[in-house]
Amino acid sequence: MEIALVGIGKIALDSHVPAINGSPDWTLAATVSRSNTIQGITAYTDFSELLETRTDIRTVSLCMPPAPRFAYAEAAIKAGRHVMLEKPPGGTLSECHTLQAMAQHHGVSLYTTWHSREATMVPNAKAWLATRTLRSVHMEWKEDVRQWHPGQDWIWEPGGMGVFDMGINGLSILTEILCEPIHLKAARLLVPENKQMPIAGSLDFFHPDGADVSVELDWAQKGPPTWAITVETNDGTLQLSQGGAKLALNGEPVALESSDDDAVGEYPRLYQKMAKLVQAGQSDIDLSPMRHVADAFTLGHRETVAPFFD
Ligand code: NAP
Repeated sequence: MEIALVGIGKIALDSHVPAINGSPDWTLAATVSRSNTIQGITAYTDFSELLETRTDIRTVSLCMPPAPRFAYAEAAIKAGRHVMLEKPPGGTLSECHTLQAMAQHHGVSLYTTWHSREATMVPNAKAWLATRTLRSVHMEWKEDVRQWHPGQDWIWEPGGMGVFDMGINGLSILTEILCEPIHLKAARLLVPENKQMPIAGSLDFFHPDGADVSVELDWAQKGPPTWAITVETNDGTLQLSQGGAKLALNGEPVALESSDDDAVGEYPRLYQKMAKLVQAGQSDIDLSPMRHVADAFTLGHRETVAPFFD
């Protein structure tokens, strides 16, 4: 199947292009970018031109930041294209619901991707937790924003979500591995005095079984990132680390099973799933990670901190 990649920035080049090039399901047929091209691939600068003239391309993958993404998704769905959305799936929950209804109306597949859910050990963690009673859950998602978002101004603007741009990755794992739904009770957001969006935050959640569920987010971490979730249960401790790539149960690392293909990677799995959705005429829309982010902006106690300069 032919696919067009729209918004040729960091994640498109780092992860989408290699995943499509390595996929048996997809051929990268065109790019749309105001500023960038990929050698050997037909390049458009105007998305509507692609939609009008390339009726052979039935699927588009949208890699621009969340705030401007809705207009592109709307145009694609109305033009009868299947749509794959980078995370976070949009600027607001409401626009994602609108896209969901539109996709259904136009009979196309819509996929709100969550790449961190495709980390190797996430299914193992979910299966282990399914039969246990939770006592506490602690998620730490900390990295150096200068390393992972060099020079990106949009992350600090309204709709950019600040530290939640990475925090939502951890929340996408949390909402996948916990059987019971959680909801936010309180949040603290640290906002640099020269920015609109938080650089750090802490969240406390209600859990139906009374487990303490807490989240720490920090974009000011130096050195290697910490992307980890620790769960204490009635039957031992689960530690998911390296963004879900590593799992330890009661301190013992869990080895990959032969069926776990660690080499496949997060983005190739997303494109495998998109191929299946298109072939089956289905959509996959889960907004639960974003709901928690929206709740944090609703309930969060804001504190102004030192200005941030890139
Ligand atoms: P980026 O490099 O700053 O931007 C990606 C591209 O989006 C830009 O090259 C630009 O494409 C397009 N764009 C930017 N502002 C736009 C606007 N107002 N209207 C239309 N297009 C616009 O960002 P990124 O790091 O790739 O992140 C993009 C998305 O991927 C975000 O949702 C992010 O959460 C997600 N993501 C990022 C990472 C990461 O490590 N950075 C990892 C996983 C997921 P053109 O110049 O080509 O038009």
